[in-house]
Amino acid sequence: MSNAIERKQTAASGETLVDVQDLKKYYGGNGFFAPPPVKAVDTVNFEIKRGETFGLVGESGSGKSTLGRTLVRLEQATDGSVSFDGTDITELSGSELKKWRSNAQMVFQDPESSLNDRMTVGEIIREPLDAHGWKTKSERRERVTELLSEVGLREEHYFRYPHQFSGGQRQRIGIARALALEPEFIVLDEPVSALDVSVQAKIITLLEDLQEEFDLTYLFIAHDLSVVRHICDRVAVMYLGKIMEIGDTEELYEDPQNPYTQALLSAIPRPDPTVTIDRITLPGTPPSPRDPPQGCQFSTRCPAKIRPEAYADVPDETWDAVEQLREVIRERSRMSLSATDQMRKRLGRFSRFDDIDETVEDLFEELSVPQAVQDHVQHAVELVKDGEPEEARTYLRDEFGGVCDTTRPDHHQVSASGRESYCHRHDAEYDDVTAVLSKYSDGA
Ligand code: ADP
Repeated sequence: MSNAIERKQTAASGETLVDVQDLKKYYGGNGFFAPPPVKAVDTVNFEIKRGETFGLVGESGSGKSTLGRTLVRLEQATDGSVSFDGTDITELSGSELKKWRSNAQMVFQDPESSLNDRMTVGEIIREPLDAHGWKTKSERRERVTELLSEVGLREEHYFRYPHQFSGGQRQRIGIARALALEPEFIVLDEPVSALDVSVQAKIITLLEDLQEEFDLTYLFIAHDLSVVRHICDRVAVMYLGKIMEIGDTEELYEDPQNPYTQALLSAIPRPDPTVTIDRITLPGTPPSPRDPPQGCQFSTRCPAKIRPEAYADVPDETWDAVEQLREVIRERSRMSLSATDQMRKRLGRFSRFDDIDETVEDLFEELSVPQAVQDHVQHAVELVKDGEPEEARTYLRDEFGGVCDTTRPDHHQVSASGRESYCHRHDAEYDDVTAVLSKYSDGA
């Protein structure tokens, strides 16, 4: 760990290499009849310092890979800017782009499929050099031999094919290829996730050694939170295309401030089973990035969501049932009606959602439900039965939604070192996140 702390201090004094401003990457959504776009990356801001390892964590589908690919121009940004040493690379094209590309490379998760099995290892590593017309042919071959040795492979491996190698060795080939043009910046997209644990450690050590030797700056993408803690100086936690919390790694792991970070970290298995963990179980599944919540991206699952003042006295279990009903109706509103359903709706014989009564009974049975809540739930149920789940969804949001449902939070600074968290709870008028979450922990 002392190694990580030393690196952190080095990086903290460094200058900015990559500056990301209001970056968006949307897929699809063009054209009048097109469905709404997938908002894979939705307005993110951060900097990566020269020489640091910057981690990107979050569940699958949160937009990590898309963000990584956009930073190295494997994807074109929808909006915003990505500046390297002050140059906005989202604007580059033609020969300028080609020249810049040598400076930023990517290592992929799956060394199996990311290497062309019809090429020899030597050809694979040499390909970027050939493409950039790097020096003479014999110098290129010499460079490949040198790279093989840098990543712990041998000269005679030049004429072998990828399938003759183990997973760890194939990842070494991928790393050698990424290093060929002497880049400053490398995006490592889950570089060890597909490898055995013992091999993972070796590849991590190799990446650390190469970083020191060649002054590399890394963006390290992972869903394995322990690896990130070990290797990264700073980390950003992503959810549904948004950065929820960002800051110094040790600090963030020791004292997470965002409800999503707290939930994510509480799920890490601990080596000592006798230590009590307050595991936070998140309800539901992440919403579709085509239809993200209107307020905070995490609001549909957040255990620390702020309740509107008018319902402050509703018992917790009853309020949880209200939230679950909203989730059920939200999911239903996403299902499009079949042609038969449309016809039945027109004929006033719409029955597809008849079981909504049963759901309500299951949810609220044995609970004390204030009359006002009952009335609103009943109204929403009628809308669902009329085949209008979208209206029911909006009605419930208007009635039971608080600031988290309706308004995007700000990024609040939550520590002296400049860590930021994206959550309304950091506004002085609301209770602190930790105080609220403690009642949701199952203590398991
Ligand atoms: P992560 O790396 O965190 O698993 P991704 O960046 O791969 O997340 O994906 C983020 C979202 O963008 C997902 O919902 C995914 O389905 C969507 N997505 C990724 N690539 C494309 C694409 N080429 N076209 C459409 N949607 C995509």
